[in-house]
Amino acid sequence: MKAVVLEAVGNPALRDLPMPVVPSGWALIRVGWCGVCGSDMPRMFAKGAHRMPLVCGHEFAGVVEALGPNTVGVPVGDRVAVFPLIWCGACAACEAGAYVQCEAYDYLGSRRDGGFAEYVAAPVRNLLPVPANVSLASAAMTEPAAVALHALRTTGVPLVGRDVAVFGAGPIGLLTAQWARIMGAARVFISDIVAARLDMAVSLGFKFMIDATEQSAAQAIQSLTNGAGVAVAVEAAGVPQTLLAAVRSVGRSGRVTLLGNPSADVTLPAELISRIMRQEIALCGVWNSTYSVLGASDDWRAALGAMAAGTLDAECLVSHRASLTATPDLLRAIHARTVSAAKVLVGAPIERTVV
Ligand SMILES: [Zn+2]
Ligand SMILES: [Zn+2]
Repeated sequence: MKAVVLEAVGNPALRDLPMPVVPSGWALIRVGWCGVCGSDMPRMFAKGAHRMPLVCGHEFAGVVEALGPNTVGVPVGDRVAVFPLIWCGACAACEAGAYVQCEAYDYLGSRRDGGFAEYVAAPVRNLLPVPANVSLASAAMTEPAAVALHALRTTGVPLVGRDVAVFGAGPIGLLTAQWARIMGAARVFISDIVAARLDMAVSLGFKFMIDATEQSAAQAIQSLTNGAGVAVAVEAAGVPQTLLAAVRSVGRSGRVTLLGNPSADVTLPAELISRIMRQEIALCGVWNSTYSVLGASDDWRAALGAMAAGTLDAECLVSHRASLTATPDLLRAIHARTVSAAKVLVGAPIERTVV
């Protein structure tokens, strides 16, 4: 099969690989689309992966092509989204169902071969059926959609009628903003420094965009809320300025969610620490998303459900679709910033049952 293999840092290359081995309890998935995550770029071009060579890509959906020996639970031919974390099932976190806190997890696309390939092997318990009216392109974005939902759920703040700020209008930020709207937020303020991203927010129907190259986002939000600040601010850019702006934009008992992977150290000025104390502001770390094998209210089912209901639009965030053959050059161009992209999907189109 064809796959984009990371052989060394800075060198993703198209290669022919043997078909994945499919053990008992696992399925062979023919990949429809696999998204390029913000975390894939430093993995491929700066930090490297846990092991190399590796097929990256953990945001994918496809069709069940075959099952391992003595395996049941999902019919061949079904369209599925794939939860990429493979939990050990034996640690305390796994016993509590907190799979993303597993002490000995494996991970498709960062620790073992993932979705930048024609086929991937995954445990059947990691597969969720894709609703008939959800495209595989949308379903490939179940993971970032679930992560964005998790970022808001983790705050514990009911958002009905409250104001929310999202710093960073990349795909994950715009998914978070859509969840805030679904959860009933009064106003969603979206800040970025790239006009094209703010335009994408406009096309999604958002009304309160702040170009942080023109004004201080925190000041703008404080003035738009008459000094009350927002209830929840989500930092979805991973840069020091946006983290500080997020803290400055919340009001009393505000929650600041750290969602963007940090790109640098952040210095908290004493004046801001004092504000965090006096206003009892909390900084919430979030990691990944909740997934359950049989449950009904985890982040993954909620994401697919909102896509099926038409309230969450993931596909409109897609700026590029590339074949596996074209993928290495596209990744290099994005890294070199000669191409500016929102969500990039790679793979071979196998849409066939879109209603
Ligand atoms: Zn991701
Ligand atoms: Zn575990």
